[in-house]
Amino acid sequence: MSKTQQSFDAIVVGAGFAGLYMLHRLRGLGLAVRVLEAGDGVGGTWYWNRYPGARCDVESMQYSYQFSDELAQEWSWSERYSAQPEILRYANHVADRFDLRRDIQFNTAVTSAHFDDGSNHWDVGTSDGTHLSARFLVMATGCLSTANLPQIKGRESFAGSTYHTGRWPHEGVDFSAKRVGIIGTGSSAVQSIPLIAQEAQHLFVFQRTPTYSVPAHNAPLDREEERRIKADYRGFRARAAQTVFDIDGDFSATPALSVSEEERQRVYEERWRQGGLTYLGAFGDLVLDSKANETAQDFVRQKIREIVKTPKVAEALMPDHAVGTKRLCVDTSYYDTFNRPNVTLVNLRHTPIEEIVPVGIRTSERLFELDAIVYATGFDAMTGALDRIDIRGANGLALKETWSAGPKTYLGIATSGFPNLFMIAAGPGSPAVLSNMIPSIEQHVNFISDIIGHMGERQLSRIEATPAAQEAWVAHVNEVAAPTLFPSTNSWYVGANIPGKPRIFMPYIGGYPVYVQKCNDVAANNFEGFVLSANA
Ligand code: FAD
Ligand code: NAP
Repeated sequence: MSKTQQSFDAIVVGAGFAGLYMLHRLRGLGLAVRVLEAGDGVGGTWYWNRYPGARCDVESMQYSYQFSDELAQEWSWSERYSAQPEILRYANHVADRFDLRRDIQFNTAVTSAHFDDGSNHWDVGTSDGTHLSARFLVMATGCLSTANLPQIKGRESFAGSTYHTGRWPHEGVDFSAKRVGIIGTGSSAVQSIPLIAQEAQHLFVFQRTPTYSVPAHNAPLDREEERRIKADYRGFRARAAQTVFDIDGDFSATPALSVSEEERQRVYEERWRQGGLTYLGAFGDLVLDSKANETAQDFVRQKIREIVKTPKVAEALMPDHAVGTKRLCVDTSYYDTFNRPNVTLVNLRHTPIEEIVPVGIRTSERLFELDAIVYATGFDAMTGALDRIDIRGANGLALKETWSAGPKTYLGIATSGFPNLFMIAAGPGSPAVLSNMIPSIEQHVNFISDIIGHMGERQLSRIEATPAAQEAWVAHVNEVAAPTLFPSTNSWYVGANIPGKPRIFMPYIGGYPVYVQKCNDVAANNFEGFVLSANA
């Protein structure tokens, strides 16, 4: 503790949408707050992911804050799904509008956080060697903020340029006249492939698992629709919050197999025409019943057959896992891009990558000579950012060890043994990653602020989730996941994309409204499941 230089009421790690709003709320409670951010600007996801085509997959009128009516009314999005530069401008606008920057320290990565049982304070160590101390530590470190570079033999030997979609150069990249290889076909690849293909001399897509994607039908925002929503923005948000993913849309309860084949096709066709994530709301049992799910899979496979002209390529692009159990992709011209003469699909299921060499990528079939490699290989999701910090709770307990057999939390927000520590929207056991994330972030921040406000009013200095409450929540999270098709698919939701990561279905899939009700009940019952005390 002797190295500690500055003391605060709360330290928030991360200046994405979660960190920004957390700072605003804690300031409102009169707390002295410091936000520590590894990057040199605000925006988190939208600061780092500057790859071509990056845009939201939840419509902008919903993928935005609602805590300030003035902000919601005055900000006007240009497109149905805004692109990364506009979302980043929005994050910067919020930082300026609420005068947040003066409490944010940029270019500062948190490397350690140790709880002192005697003082009930966290000692936070940073990349520049300084230490700060605070009663409360809030991890707003992001669910998809730790880029995953795959362990491919020879990766470092490549002599050309390499990029990861989640760490894209700020100045952009010029792929013209370049032979480019992209590894991965998740959401980031689906968005970037059509645009890189337009620029590159040739694009080789290295696909291990084909992906389901539905059209975005992105367009300039319909101003009439904007006016209609803004006339009752709160009501619109409140209605969305009653849906399972907190996304406005029609989520049917009808089982897929209860209607005729003709009716099913009509419904899927209609959803395809609407575009976007609500394809999964076509029927009520798509993520519960594998037979029902197959009908939604078949429909997308048929679309791929119709769009992609070369039958062999179409066949290779067809996914075979349950649709929706990996994040559904939302695209602009993804499948159609494989009709371009300068795009080659490399099916790694048949010809796996053997190594990366100075001139390119060698599969079991041949060498692909490349000038650039793009890793669209995703993230060490949810636990990744926390794992990279040496977090030690009461009695020196290391979070990494405590979670070695799988992460456990109470409500996705706190974890037993780590007093006065909160997580926002990245915590396993939270529904956030399955939902429209900005409203989920706001809900988490409001709940955490209510706890801290409650403690301040009663001069309490320590809060900790009880092991019993945590076990009960973990059991509930597992219980609601078990009957769904999610746990059986290899996805980042279960940690399958990171070698050695324990396989646990991390998000809470009981539904956003159920989760919110649970948090409200916990708050109404004096934060039951937590022990609050004033012992220091
Ligand atoms: P982040 O935005 O990830 O911010 C976390 C911040 O913490 C980062 O700036 C990071 O630098 C910082 N940080 C992490 N560790 C440390 C450390 N040790 N020290 C200091 N700083 C640290 N969700 C949706 O709901 N809809 C979408 O359309 C959508 N699109 C997405 C598109 C992409 C490309 C990606 C990757 C994710 C997308 N998401 C989407 C999820 C998205 O991550 C969330 O919506 C949201 O932006 C998360 O905000 P956050 O503040 O919780 O985390
Ligand atoms: P991702 O969904 O995890 O996809 C990573 C891709 O890389 C997968 O196709 C994966 O194949 C492949 N891959 C990983 N390691 C590989 C290896 N060693 N060899 C070959 N292929 C490998 O990551 P992402 O696309 O960055 O998306 C992550 C999440 O961010 C999304 O699920 C979504 O929540 C969010 N996101 C949203 C949007 C949006 O539309 N707004 C855009 C981007 C991201 P396997 O499947 O075989 O592992």
